[in-house]
Amino acid sequence: MITLVKGFHDILPDETRKWAFMMSTARESLERFGFREIIPPIMEKTELFQRGIGEVTDIVEKEMYTFEDRGGESLSLRPEATAGVLRAVVEHSLLRKDPLLKLYCIGPMFRRERPSKGRYRQFFQVNAEILGDDSPYTDAEAVAAAYSIMTDIGATGLMMEINSVGCPNCRAEYRKLLQTFFKDRTKDLCSDCRRRLEANPMRILDCKVPECAHMVKDAPLVTDSLDEPCREHFREVREALEILEIPNRLEPRMVRGLDYYTRTAFEIVHEELGRSKAVGGGGRYDNLLKDLGGPDASGIGFAIGLERLSMGIPDDHPRFRRRIDVYVALLGQGAGPMGLTVVNMLRSNGISVETRYSPMSLKAQMKLADKIGARKVIMIGDDELARREVTIRDMRTKDQTTVGIDGIVKLLQGDES
Ligand code: ATP
Ligand code: MG
Repeated sequence: MITLVKGFHDILPDETRKWAFMMSTARESLERFGFREIIPPIMEKTELFQRGIGEVTDIVEKEMYTFEDRGGESLSLRPEATAGVLRAVVEHSLLRKDPLLKLYCIGPMFRRERPSKGRYRQFFQVNAEILGDDSPYTDAEAVAAAYSIMTDIGATGLMMEINSVGCPNCRAEYRKLLQTFFKDRTKDLCSDCRRRLEANPMRILDCKVPECAHMVKDAPLVTDSLDEPCREHFREVREALEILEIPNRLEPRMVRGLDYYTRTAFEIVHEELGRSKAVGGGGRYDNLLKDLGGPDASGIGFAIGLERLSMGIPDDHPRFRRRIDVYVALLGQGAGPMGLTVVNMLRSNGISVETRYSPMSLKAQMKLADKIGARKVIMIGDDELARREVTIRDMRTKDQTTVGIDGIVKLLQGDES
């Protein structure tokens, strides 16, 4: 047997209704906030991610699925959506037509991480971006949109953790403070962090190695290094979140794993999964569009991981149950042709139908009808065949009625209203 690629997962038929529900609810929530969908490809030039996400990040250093295609070009499966969305925005000059763009996309991302519960190598994200507005209220709106998706889906026990990571101006000073702080403690840092110390000391704050995480507790806080404009921006974001009544908590050590964030950064944390497995995260990226060759426009975005979100939603919600309107039980020897006619007629009239063409006992067919959640069973036996009638059984009330072929659709549709 050839099995799944390690860290990949199948979403099986019993789970797909839940997935469809999460995706359609996310779409509805985002469209309510004025977002429109964009569907970029799942593969881009490797360069895009190196430039967009940053060379000294876990994703680019160790997690990307990168390969050379037959033409010799280096390509990568997308590890996140923002770089690809912004590439499309720049390439098609979308901001010229709409100076304020709100875009979302839903689809799989790929990161070669060590798999564990809630951590896969292919996982789904709902991703949203607001481009062209640097008002702090826009930050709050991004947080509100993320929150709304999750509450609409019915997730509970969520908390928005927020922070400001400042702008390049504040960070120049903060970098130095961090380097001074960790220089004395270099020997206790993991080998990755020793490298990060020179190249990108803020990455140390995001390190999951316990010794590093322990040291980070005493490290200087980025919020203490914010310049006046960044401080004021953050104050207004928090004020807006109060007005919107979104449960949030200041988390001054949260820096997020990507290089491009400026000012507001946030994570959506589930009380059971904890910080090491956030359900979603996002932040502002005021220089990313320009860095990718686009206009000097600001942006803010977030991503919600659907595998983690689904862990907080019960699998057995009635709306996730399979529903079929009618099961057609073919009972007599010659029931086939009339059965086919009935099945086809019902489906053409928008009624969902399941049936079995191979012979099966009535008892087995009733059991099957029950299992798939059929509301009605239409029985076609020898007697019915002779009279060109069918017997319709209501699976809930157990009532049975007999009706001529031409009256079936009307009867079923009449029952609906
Ligand atoms: P983590 O800290 O858990 O590694 P991250 O900061 O790398 O997450 P982001 O890049 O912020 O993750 O992606 C946003 C969301 O995508 C995460 O909050 C999570 O729900 C989901 N996600 C990220 N990586 C994975 C993964 N390997 N498997 C499943 N979901 C993931
Ligand atoms: Mg990660």
